[in-house]
Amino acid sequence: MIKNAEIIAVGSELLTPSRVDTNSLYLTELLNSIGIEVELKTIVGDSENRLEQVLREAIKRSELVIATGGLGPTEDDITKKVVARVIKKQMVLEERILERIQFRFRSRGLEMPANNARQALVPVGARILENPVGTAPGLWIEHEGCHILLLPGPPRELKVIFEASCMPRLTEFSGGIRLATQVFKVTGMTESRLDEIIAPIYTRYKNPTTTILAAAGEIHVHLIAKGKSEEDAKRILTDLADKIEYELGDFVFSRGEESLEQIVGYYLLMRQMTLAVAESCTGGLISQRITSVPGSSSYFLCGVTCYSNASKIDLAGIPPLLIEMNGAVSPEVAKGLAEGIRLKTGATIGVGVTGIAGPAGGSVNKPVGLVHIALALDNTVEHQEHRFGGDRERIRLWASQAALDMVRRKLI
Ligand code: ATP
Ligand code: MG
Repeated sequence: MIKNAEIIAVGSELLTPSRVDTNSLYLTELLNSIGIEVELKTIVGDSENRLEQVLREAIKRSELVIATGGLGPTEDDITKKVVARVIKKQMVLEERILERIQFRFRSRGLEMPANNARQALVPVGARILENPVGTAPGLWIEHEGCHILLLPGPPRELKVIFEASCMPRLTEFSGGIRLATQVFKVTGMTESRLDEIIAPIYTRYKNPTTTILAAAGEIHVHLIAKGKSEEDAKRILTDLADKIEYELGDFVFSRGEESLEQIVGYYLLMRQMTLAVAESCTGGLISQRITSVPGSSSYFLCGVTCYSNASKIDLAGIPPLLIEMNGAVSPEVAKGLAEGIRLKTGATIGVGVTGIAGPAGGSVNKPVGLVHIALALDNTVEHQEHRFGGDRERIRLWASQAALDMVRRKLI
């Protein structure tokens, strides 16, 4: 039975900002789904010594070790060689693999470079995992009670091999434990307030486990339940999930992968409404987020960034006197932007945002972080005043989050 796993991502480029190790995240998700917990992952550069050290430890402490990358034909592809050394096995040439590689080259009218013959070398006793979309096959090696899987680095190849040749066999080894997961995405509440509400509930449960992750302007509550079968895991999950969802109420904007801008989009589509935005301190961030969702053209009419007073007057139709009397950062101007952009564009909903993102420009009465947001719909205009903390970027992000949430709350 396999209960715990670890992943070793091989490749010096994965240590740099130019390439992120996505393979391990993909593998972890699939392993979790069959109840195998990934307890550790390591990223190793193309160094034989380092890889050897990591592998020796991994084989001792984990029941399943998956190494990705470094199976290619070049000098820096070291994974197989090092594994063979660690498990003290000879490398043998697998004719069947060599023929397949030769065939792949021939069918494209190319001569196989001599280097590629290396990809047909495997440690004695390894099980070969066919690679229908590339040259290097995966390998499954059993050694002193440890299952070692070697998979090629290119994500497309890794996925095909893992799903076709590894998952079915791993499921047999996973002892029938199944996981069920649920995420709640919450906005409009601080992390400490959220924990105050739900900690008394989730701390009573060992299974499911609860993890709280605070992202920019939103909080994600992750639940993972283990069960004897899928239904069992789902039942254990639902018991806690229902209680948490009840307590958080409409602060939950998503029960899945959707972003706030996607959710706002769904609602606008469902209600057949349109949106226009006049932004000052967010500088187009709200429009950017809304239009990052495919299909947003069916509900998003227009976004203007009106930074100067003149542009607030010209583009959003604010009466000049309104700015003179109240200042650009005021409830009146936020309302004027929302109503003005709605009338100018004919949108169902108009949103206006004005505030002080800092670091300069604050005063005692109007400190950095002060943001006014308004929403105009039919003949009513609503307004919210926020005081956001943090630097310029954070204030702008929170302001965009609050504005989107205001639209969402109007539509639910
Ligand atoms: P190849 O035969 O293509 O050389 P390989 O098994 O030797 O395959 P690498 O050379 O390590 O794999 O990587 C091939 C490609 O896959 C590179 O573009 C690399 O950046 C990418 N890659 C490798 N490992 C990962 C990973 N863990 N996550 C995402 N991409 C990866
Ligand atoms: Mg390579």
